Amino acid sequence: MTLEVYQYPYGPGANYGVLLHDPVAKETASVDAGDGAALMAALEKTGWPLTEIWVTHHHHDHVDGLEEVKAATGCTVRGPAPESQPIAGLDLRHGDGDSFVFAGHSVHVIHTPGHTTDMINYYLPSERLVFTGDTLFVMGCGRLFEGDGPMMHASLQKLVALPEDTVVYCSHEYTEANADFALTVDPNNIALRERATAVKALRAEDKPTVPTTLADELATNPFLRANDPAIRAHLGMEDASDAEVFTEIRRRKDAA
Ligand code: ZN
Ligand code: FE
Repeated sequence: MTLEVYQYPYGPGANYGVLLHDPVAKETASVDAGDGAALMAALEKTGWPLTEIWVTHHHHDHVDGLEEVKAATGCTVRGPAPESQPIAGLDLRHGDGDSFVFAGHSVHVIHTPGHTTDMINYYLPSERLVFTGDTLFVMGCGRLFEGDGPMMHASLQKLVALPEDTVVYCSHEYTEANADFALTVDPNNIALRERATAVKALRAEDKPTVPTTLADELATNPFLRANDPAIRAHLGMEDASDAEVFTEIRRRKDAA
């Protein structure tokens, strides 16, 4: 991997910010800018000069620091072309299938509506790296604030189509609660049980469980496993569509 990644926590919502840095081109991208002070501190700590911000969606815990950091650094701000709520400070808007170049690396934009309708994710094929915002979490997925179950299911299927060794950075440390819930719908999944134990040990030491990989998510994330016969049997939904099974798992998570 030629790009360096720096992840840092911020805010009361267990958020993660991520910096992506090319040491040769001396360019740095920040995925979202939810907390201006935390982002400026991360830049100070790494010594990396910020050149771009990539906004995933309009929620305040992802954009609250945007204008402050843009004013301080003069960086270029990329964000969603699909509109939901307005986002102040965007310079460039990207929609599904768009791509742009960051420090010589191709970045593909994937529209993943469901949590919000404006959500976009950023995929770097050369690095096998994807930034999923609040769409795909470790053993979980985002709540459906603006979309519905079939919409979110279709969005997650776009991410699943990426290579299995893709490294996934998401925007929140919700993993421990996600693992507890996952065990309620997929209780006999050995990989899930082992991972839930490993996650508890990491969190007991206050260590991050992010990033993850698509392979690990396919094995343990119930929101990517709507086609799994054991989960379908557990839910009594053997004859339902994958989108229907997904929607039921999401409904149960919301009620948990
Ligand atoms: Zn959000
Ligand atoms: Fe969020």
